[in-house]
Amino acid sequence: GTTLPRIVVLGAGLGGTIAAYEIRDATKGRAEVTVISDSEDYWFVPSNPWVAVRWREPDAIRVPLAPVMAKKGIGFTSVGALRVHPADQRIDLRDGTSMTYDWLVIATGPELAFDEIPGFGPEGHTVSVCRTDHAAHAADAFDAFCADPKPIVVGAAQGASCFGPAYEFALILDTELRRRKIRDRVPMTFVTSEPYVGHLGLDGVGDTKGLLESEMRERHIKWITNARVTGVEPGMMHVEEVGEDGAVKKAHDLSFGYSMLLPAFRGVKAVYGIEGLTNPRGFILADRHQRNPTFKNIYSLGVCVAIPPIGPTPVPVGVPKTGFMIESMVTAVAHNIAAELDGREPDEVPSWNAVCLADFGDGGVAFVAQPQIPPRNVNWSSHGKWVHLAKVGFEKYFLHKVRSGTSEPLYEKLALNMLGISKLKETSKESVR
Ligand code: FAD
Repeated sequence: GTTLPRIVVLGAGLGGTIAAYEIRDATKGRAEVTVISDSEDYWFVPSNPWVAVRWREPDAIRVPLAPVMAKKGIGFTSVGALRVHPADQRIDLRDGTSMTYDWLVIATGPELAFDEIPGFGPEGHTVSVCRTDHAAHAADAFDAFCADPKPIVVGAAQGASCFGPAYEFALILDTELRRRKIRDRVPMTFVTSEPYVGHLGLDGVGDTKGLLESEMRERHIKWITNARVTGVEPGMMHVEEVGEDGAVKKAHDLSFGYSMLLPAFRGVKAVYGIEGLTNPRGFILADRHQRNPTFKNIYSLGVCVAIPPIGPTPVPVGVPKTGFMIESMVTAVAHNIAAELDGREPDEVPSWNAVCLADFGDGGVAFVAQPQIPPRNVNWSSHGKWVHLAKVGFEKYFLHKVRSGTSEPLYEKLALNMLGISKLKETSKESVR
């Protein structure tokens, strides 16, 4: 018969995996869908902090992707992309072959910019929870640390755009150290590029400032804000605390026996520095329909999308891209490509709401921001034991979704519509309380 148009999804993390399912269901019989990953497996990144304290085994958050993709009729390779060539509608793969596409959906997540600070990251002197293999290594390092407790430094470096997991990890460590009955031997410092505790790259949500300051005060975690890390040596972190004017206010030399800081992100090499496709940090440029303005058959979703910071801060901080926001991008991309297949213009606009659950093991903080930039229609934060249960629910729900190949966003409908949040902007106007 005739060949169907080919839609390629590049990257099979949180966004790419469910995008493949949703696009498949939205275009069934009218297009061929293929996923290019660089791993045989999907890993549920939000549970990585639990892996680092052995509350989860890596295998519990892993989904082998080939069987489920085959079941769904989606093409799948784990060979990885070397370079995207938008003008030729072609992707060079790491095995020397290449693949052409009619539409491309880029969902490659972040490259971790540890190399921007000397001695930083898992190849230097701090651990990471950004990847599950990093987190498994961080768990071994934590066991060794507990045999010889020393100070801990946790936080997020300059240019970071992901702050929830930093707070989460600091408070998880506090919980676990108390369980191991060695908390009294571990001074803890939270180091962050945010201008204040609870800013989160969003200028705060509800009272995240008060909630997170209070949590950290109650748990004896000191903090340094407006922080810029200048270098890490074995057991020692050098930090500059910057004033409102950007001038260095104070220099700190922090000794540590265990440290995890979230790095800045940038775009992956396969897309970095392509004129018209990416911004100077390698993030993919997208219009309000998630479509690239130059290469109109390229959509993008997830952490790889270029989103400007919420405003100037003394030390640069980026805007977080959380799971629910990514799902709203996924839904919009699936609708818009299906519309284009039908010869219509893309019309769905994702809500880009920030929804986050930060779990501390024995409690947690949750927030919902709509829209991202204040003043907001919904600006809500809360805390309590329920957040831990909600996060376990989110993990179970999401892993089920990836394992079964379901594209139906059931959890959001149940849990988040209760908060008055809807995934697409068109429908959200009425439902916001
Ligand atoms: P990723 O999940 O990182 O997926 C990108 C994929 O693309 C990866 O599998 C990567 O291997 C692949 N890839 C990259 N380059 C190539 C290439 N050249 N060829 C082929 N494949 C490639 N959000 C929440 O809502 N709730 C949370 O609790 C939460 N916790 C988080 C905890 C941590 C530690 C981190 C780092 C983030 C967390 N987030 C959370 C934020 C966000 O939801 C996750 O980062 C999420 O995984 C982002 O999804 P993504 O699809 O954009 O990127």
